[in-house]
Amino acid sequence: MNIILFGPPGAGKGTQSKYLVKKLDGFQISTGDILREEIKKDSEIGKKIINNMNEGKFVSDEIVNSLLKNHVFDPLKKEKLIFDGYPRSLKQAKNLDKLLKESNQSIDYIFFLNVNKETIIKRIEKRKFLEQRSDDTLDTTLKRYDTYIETTRPVLEYYSKNSNFHEIDGTLEINQITSKIEALLNV
Ligand code: AMP
Repeated sequence: MNIILFGPPGAGKGTQSKYLVKKLDGFQISTGDILREEIKKDSEIGKKIINNMNEGKFVSDEIVNSLLKNHVFDPLKKEKLIFDGYPRSLKQAKNLDKLLKESNQSIDYIFFLNVNKETIIKRIEKRKFLEQRSDDTLDTTLKRYDTYIETTRPVLEYYSKNSNFHEIDGTLEINQITSKIEALLNV
């Protein structure tokens, strides 16, 4: 089973995907984590993306797509992909379609965690203290939300026509969201 968790920054995609990884014995494909790892390693890619990430801007589709490819084609992860924070642009969504087709896979469920701006601001403020992420400042949060609205909305329109698309109220408590996901997955 392959799943996409979709929604603005702070919607709870990471939390729910970690849960799904355990429950379904899957693999979390968080492009945010993959990119942060490149910065930590101080790789060539890491040096290129650090400014964009700290400013809450998107990393180029080219870089993200190239890092993602190995995960989709990894035989260990086949049919166990849980996408968290990818795709975030129409170009990425089309790239994912292509990679899945080439690897004989498809997406089984798309969960859209819908959250308003006020809730996100509150959550990110809280997370700042828990995780100490360098991009969790209020300014960056607002920038990331605006980037999401501009760039990610078309992806929402692209997916919302699919029969496997499910909108979930992301302002609910974590365990309530989990229950809704479980009910839809029938697990
Ligand atoms: P996240 O951990 O998903 O909130 O992502 C943190 C930051 O990583 C974002 O603000 C972007 O700068 C970058 N990023 C993560 N995923 C993507 C993606 N799919 N496309 C472009 N940039 C991304």
